[in-house]
Amino acid sequence: MTDTPAATDDVREVIVIGSGPAGYTAALYTARAQLKPLLFGSSIFVGGSLTTTTEVENFPGFPTGIDGPDLMDNMRAQAEKFGAEMIDDDIVEVDLTGDIKRLTDSAGTVHRAKTVIIATGSGYRKLGLPKEDELSGRGVSWCATCDGFFFRDRDIVVVGGGDTAMEEATFLTRFARSVTVVHRRSTLRASQVMQNRAFADDKISFAFDSEIAELKEENGMLAGVVLRDVITGKTRDLDATGLFIAIGHDPRTELFTSQIDLDSEGYIKVESPSTRTNLPGVFAAGDVVDHTYRQAITAAASGCQAALDTERHLAALA
Ligand code: FAD
Repeated sequence: MTDTPAATDDVREVIVIGSGPAGYTAALYTARAQLKPLLFGSSIFVGGSLTTTTEVENFPGFPTGIDGPDLMDNMRAQAEKFGAEMIDDDIVEVDLTGDIKRLTDSAGTVHRAKTVIIATGSGYRKLGLPKEDELSGRGVSWCATCDGFFFRDRDIVVVGGGDTAMEEATFLTRFARSVTVVHRRSTLRASQVMQNRAFADDKISFAFDSEIAELKEENGMLAGVVLRDVITGKTRDLDATGLFIAIGHDPRTELFTSQIDLDSEGYIKVESPSTRTNLPGVFAAGDVVDHTYRQAITAAASGCQAALDTERHLAALA
């Protein structure tokens, strides 16, 4: 990348990419440490994954729950109060290899910084069906830990055949009346131990060689699904007011592939328990590094760690 007339003059102490719990927490901590962070929070998806849900009941400090978008607005306001600067735009190109990192926004302006915190999150894979997005948080979910509690005594469908799907299905039997696992193939991909646990559970049944063909909606809520047999093409209705989609996630790491070490599934590798990547001065936090926990609180916690790692890195440069 070469200098352009659009390059900003100043070299920032830290730039944060991503406006979810990890990015906003990193901005809060670095702002309070007087590092004057600049955060790029996306042009279309400001506030991250929690802006796509309604009530969040498991973020500590809110005993009566809080709407996802409100929680994210609060996190942003708290970081701004201490001087974090926010730009609702995407970073579209990066050069993170040198001592001074260079990040280009969608207008072509190059921003420079001594350190970068990557908190770009990951996206849940979707089925690609009509109404899937509008029913998110209204019967359709991607996270049993987050939403299982809302599905007491309900009939639930879980889509997927891997470990996550089996774990979600088994977990959901604590709340649900019934759980039907829908899988496109005739055998599961999940480990044998996870399969055995699911097969042994009386509440769980299986629809193999099947896929969801349609989501039914009533009064803005999921009211059932239509299953299609992938071999015969026949369809049938299945009564369910909950649908958990467990077909994987894609970390948002396309920008970094040629520079930062990623694992086989595309997540950023960090020198755990720190948030250091393979590049000095580049740190990563939240769901973009996390296969396992994937919660707002764990993302926020690692955003805090990234900020502290950044502070120490800058202090060592001084
Ligand atoms: P994200 O929240 O995904 O934020 C990343 C942000 O970075 C996004 O805004 C993205 O657009 C932005 N970004 C990406 N690339 C760029 C770029 N190049 N330039 C600028 N910006 C960029 N967790 C709970 O604890 N409790 C719940 O009840 C709960 N419910 C959920 C409900 C739903 C529907 C979903 C999808 C998730 C839910 N989660 C819940 C999980 C939680 O939202 C995530 O674990 C958490 O948001 C991850 O935070 P993050 O900061 O790592 O990433």
